[in-house]
Amino acid sequence: MMTRDIQESLNRVAALLAQAKHAIAFTGAGISTASGIPDFRSPECGLWNNVDPLAVASIYGFRQNPQAFFDWIRPLASLTLNANPNAAHYALAKWEAKGLLKAVITQNIDMLHTRAGSKRVYELHGHLREATCIHCFTVYAAVPLIQQFIEDGVVPHCPKCGSVIKPNLILFGEQLPARELMAAKEAARNADLVLVIGSSLEVFPAADLPLLAQRNGAKVVIINLEPTRFDSLAYLVLQADAAVVLPQIVHRMELSQ
Ligand code: NAD
Ligand code: ZN
Repeated sequence: MMTRDIQESLNRVAALLAQAKHAIAFTGAGISTASGIPDFRSPECGLWNNVDPLAVASIYGFRQNPQAFFDWIRPLASLTLNANPNAAHYALAKWEAKGLLKAVITQNIDMLHTRAGSKRVYELHGHLREATCIHCFTVYAAVPLIQQFIEDGVVPHCPKCGSVIKPNLILFGEQLPARELMAAKEAARNADLVLVIGSSLEVFPAADLPLLAQRNGAKVVIINLEPTRFDSLAYLVLQADAAVVLPQIVHRMELSQ
């Protein structure tokens, strides 16, 4: 059952999307929870319990103790490799295919947007497709390395030089990939509508992008289970499950065509 408020908001989002000339999506871990990958902030997921993020998930921590990093990421990597896109990822891919959405800017490393068929995806925090030797910078396909690690728990080492191999995801203390960030900023500047989906908007500089869009005249719609720090600035806030409401918006737009 959905309240009338939510029904009304869904109609408004559908109308905004139909009218927009340059709509983009900005997504976070919350778009993938329905695929079985926990976000970082839900208390029950345990990913941040008993760990100091700066100790394990930072580039300094990684260099000091790669084993601790790999042990921490192991359950997340395992869930990610076994996950499939959900209805929210498919909704975004469908809107792009119909010309209603220009790009997806994501903080996720799970690759589920591209697997759902989205073409223009800016992965600000990297991905688990590739991994790079921290010494000689040889690039490897990440999935077999990660699968091996999930099985045996042994940190992957470079066959060429013997150094540790790091998945191509961005840790605390690392720069965001320059080309992706520039392209994402360009998309945000040009946007007239931003759908922020499943992000606490707590991680910077990524979380600056919806604000950048707003300063340039875009309407910001936030679809998130919990309140976010930018709710007061948004044009519309929908506190709802993205995997439930995005397909509902798709449905409405099909009905109104
Ligand atoms: P976050 O964990 O800070 O916030 C996620 C937000 O999504 C929360 O506010 C939560 O209420 C909301 N949410 C959860 N399930 C939802 C649903 N079904 N529908 C709507 N909203 C839902 O995530 P973030 O803002 O992306 O920042 C976390 C950082 O962790 C990012 O840098 C990201 O790289 C990384 N991360 C990625 C993944 C992934 O790739 N799937 C998973 C965990 C963390
Ligand atoms: Zn090497």
